[in-house]
Amino acid sequence: MLRVDLRDLKHGPVATTGTLARDDRVFEGLDLSLAAPVQVDGRIQASGAGGYFWKGHVRGQVQAQCRRCLSDVALSVDTDVGLMFSSDPDLQDDPSVHELPPSATQIDLTEFVREELALAVPGYPLCRPDCAGLCPRCGADLNAGPCGCAVPDHG
Ligand SMILES: [Zn+2]
Ligand SMILES: [Zn+2]
Repeated sequence: MLRVDLRDLKHGPVATTGTLARDDRVFEGLDLSLAAPVQVDGRIQASGAGGYFWKGHVRGQVQAQCRRCLSDVALSVDTDVGLMFSSDPDLQDDPSVHELPPSATQIDLTEFVREELALAVPGYPLCRPDCAGLCPRCGADLNAGPCGCAVPDHG
């Protein structure tokens, strides 16, 4: 259950276990594709006046493109998440606190799962740190060996 009914939290912690399919709507617009469903677990509980704390774990396989040679790169996402939600206006300046409208009746954790996945993908993914990339002249994958073009002189 990744969309938590806040009324349930009055009775104690609620387990947040769920699987998001690769093509779940929540992932639309992300500059990545998923190689496997995303597994989420953890639990959420009330903490203080109007506040909730989610401690979870997000696990998945993201597919990105190597920035140098454009081959597919599989990235494992395996990350702990700790998020605070509150409708207390005094806490809204705290960047670690997510604002909860006072009238909220549920917390949708899927959008935070989306955020975690986006954060987990490096801005410059590489298939390996020393990827040789593509020849700028003929486009050959230089990881497979020299392409035969003249080697540019780097001085
Ligand atoms: Zn590469
Ligand atoms: Zn070449």
